[in-house]
Amino acid sequence: MKTRKLLMIPGPTPVARSIQDQMGRETVAFGDPAFVKDFKELLEDLKSLLCCSGEVFVVAGTGTMGMEMAIANTTKKGDNILIVSHGFFGDRFIDLCRKKGLNADVISSEWGETVPVEKIREKLREKKYSAITVTHVDTSTGVCAPVADIGRMMKEFPETIYIVDGVCATAGEPENVDAMGIDILFTGSQKAFGVSPGLTMLWASRKAMERRKSLGDIPEFYIDFEKWLPIMKDTGKYFATPAVNLVWALKESVRIIKEEGMENRYERHRKTAAAMQEALEAIGFKILAKEGCRAVTLSNLIYPEGIDDAKFRGLLAEEGIMVAGGLAAYAGKMFRLGHMGNIDKHDMVSVIAAIERALYRAGMPVQLGKGVGIVQQHLMK
Ligand code: PMP
Repeated sequence: MKTRKLLMIPGPTPVARSIQDQMGRETVAFGDPAFVKDFKELLEDLKSLLCCSGEVFVVAGTGTMGMEMAIANTTKKGDNILIVSHGFFGDRFIDLCRKKGLNADVISSEWGETVPVEKIREKLREKKYSAITVTHVDTSTGVCAPVADIGRMMKEFPETIYIVDGVCATAGEPENVDAMGIDILFTGSQKAFGVSPGLTMLWASRKAMERRKSLGDIPEFYIDFEKWLPIMKDTGKYFATPAVNLVWALKESVRIIKEEGMENRYERHRKTAAAMQEALEAIGFKILAKEGCRAVTLSNLIYPEGIDDAKFRGLLAEEGIMVAGGLAAYAGKMFRLGHMGNIDKHDMVSVIAAIERALYRAGMPVQLGKGVGIVQQHLMK
């Protein structure tokens, strides 16, 4: 008999049965009154869950589209933009911004660390920046940026739009658009919301909406706020076909989040990460992200000496767990484990148990049950 495979890459994350059921519903017209109502309620919930008094956009696309949408609606060719990068996905903004003809300055940290807020402040004082980008959790490093501290500092630079990439964070790491002074926050459906890939959710502050207005006509078409705003205000209107079943799936995800409570969900992610990270360190892995800036949504685990990446991940897949490989300089040296969204106690215990079995089969001197015991103790706290 085949072992069931648990999807533990850092997105897509496991999709709960009730969310899958929404994907399997018979598709209706996007003008269907019941769908129009569902979509409207979803948008209201998304605004209140992330405490955004501005606008929210739900558009078919991926996280990368959210990045592009944020830039397209807040900057124009020739503008200065500051990119704060903690890894591969922070760096993705560099190419994206240069393609738009922006003057992109970059401040990067070593992988596993964050750029100090003071360094960002110094850079912002050098010249006028139209916008700054910060990746809340860089999936390549498992580092969590201090978005609230940066937001406080950003009050000194009211002409700069504060863009936060929440793709690997939103609905897992605490975020509050208004209170943190975030102007644009975006994520993809496939991460901590636990929905299949295919939707971009983007929150925009009033300041971001004013910036869009001040830009006049922009070269982008599909990702223009002004094209989508009438639909977000009246979900019965048409600009481009909404992903009907994904919208329902996201609505079910939001129902689950409301039932759990956003604060409880953040706390659960914090506890899950503490349990998983302690267990993984105890069985021989090093966590790339330094203590004090570790994400709760995933762990990036450096192999102990003597482990072959492809072989280990192959064994782990046989043991029933799919994880992701390391990126860039860490390819072959580490693996990435998602623990965000709608995963539960069963998943946590199974994942650590499977990792122990894979280590054992790879010939490592692992004490079977050691990591599992740690997770169990955390679960009983
Ligand atoms: N930003 C971050 C932080 C990400 O983790 C990812 C995807 N892993 C992206 C952007 C890009 O998202 P997508 O693959 O959905 O385009």
